[in-house]
Amino acid sequence: MVDGGRLDADLVIDASGRAGRAADAVRARSGVGGLCGMAYVDRQYRLHDGVEPGPMANPLAWQADFDGYQTIVFLHERGHFSVLLVRPTADATLKDLRHEVAFEAACRAIPGLAEWTDPARARPVTGVLPGGPLRNAYRGQRGVDGRLAVPGLVSVGDAVATTTPTFGRGLATTFLQCRHLLDLLDSGANPHLVGEPFDIWCQAHMLPWVLDHIHMDSDLVRRWQGGDVDVSQRLPSDLILSAAAVEPRIGEPSQPYLAMRALPSSLDPVEPLARAVYESGGRRIARGQPAKSSSTSSNPLSTGREERRPRGHRSHRSRKGGMHEALRRLYLLDRPDQRCRLGRMVIAHPRACRRRTSACQRLRRNPRVTRHR
Ligand SMILES: Cc1cc2nc3c(=O)[nH]c(=O)nc-3n(C[C@H](O)[C@H](O)[C@H](O)COP(=O)(O)OP(=O)(O)OC[C@H]3O[C@@H](n4cnc5c(N)ncnc54)[C@H](O)[C@@H]3O)c2cc1C
Repeated sequence: MVDGGRLDADLVIDASGRAGRAADAVRARSGVGGLCGMAYVDRQYRLHDGVEPGPMANPLAWQADFDGYQTIVFLHERGHFSVLLVRPTADATLKDLRHEVAFEAACRAIPGLAEWTDPARARPVTGVLPGGPLRNAYRGQRGVDGRLAVPGLVSVGDAVATTTPTFGRGLATTFLQCRHLLDLLDSGANPHLVGEPFDIWCQAHMLPWVLDHIHMDSDLVRRWQGGDVDVSQRLPSDLILSAAAVEPRIGEPSQPYLAMRALPSSLDPVEPLARAVYESGGRRIARGQPAKSSSTSSNPLSTGREERRPRGHRSHRSRKGGMHEALRRLYLLDRPDQRCRLGRMVIAHPRACRRRTSACQRLRRNPRVTRHR
């Protein structure tokens, strides 16, 4: 239907994205993946005229991984840049990052990000934009009737394969799908039936990337919550790549994976090398001692400095980055009207307070005002 009218076509492309529902009436729901336990807030800034950008990990971005969260800066055109704070959805305290006062306190507290957002360097050009919870999901071409493909309808892009933006893969997976669909059509495939061979190709070439992200992101969230590297099963790809900082033999074979010229299974041969790094060198690394050598970054967005230790290992527990402490300070009630700096009234009984900040500790002596609202 177009503007309420009917339009006949040989082929209908559904490119409605990660949240698109355009084809829901005829297309089976996603069977793989879902919310990954991460969410982000985002704010855009602009450099003052003539001022140089802050630290960069590569021509695109700067990223740092801290204990319990991640921060990424994407540099755009004309001095504009985006600051992303990626957090576990389970950490209720970090939801407050959507408040400007909390976001700014976090920026000031995070090394590297403080340089980017220094008022002497840049000014905010938007408010804080809360992003939705992030997803990794795969949805094939199968129809609601269970048949392999809906004749004449092909879904592409994020409507097939959605991955979290932490590796910046969405445009590449979308491009690869479009290119393959065009190849099929150019080689004479019937537009009504092209969904079937396209679906088979997507299962072989797109699904592995989604599964790779599901593994990486769920394990990262688990480690954010205090878990250690689990060497009893295949390591997630980001940890394999991080181990290249200690084991140079991982570096070279990881390049095709990083460039998406080879599927995640291309890391399987070097996975035992990475596992050996975490098994044998883990304790030394866990004490926060730097690795001996550095040859590659686990994430193309990461800074070399952060990647000198395998990412996500225990050593990161000491890498608080200051954000939690900065937010905690925001709750210090230093005003007579008993409002914290986020404007919350403090009410009810101390035992009801789930935030357990030092402000709450002080308020435990006052039975009238104790719970953040
Ligand atoms: C915060 C964030 C950062 C990202 N960073 C990167 C990155 O650095 N590199 C990278 O490669 N990828 C990145 N991605 C992923 C990338 O944005 C997506 O993979 C890509 O946009 C997918 O393209 P698409 O055309 O499939 O869907 P989209 O770009 O989402 O486009 C779908 C469009 O369809 C519209 N639509 C939906 N339903 C209907 C309807 N019924 N009628 C009409 N229109 C409809 C939507 O409004 C939307 O405009 C990022 C994603 C996020 C969320």
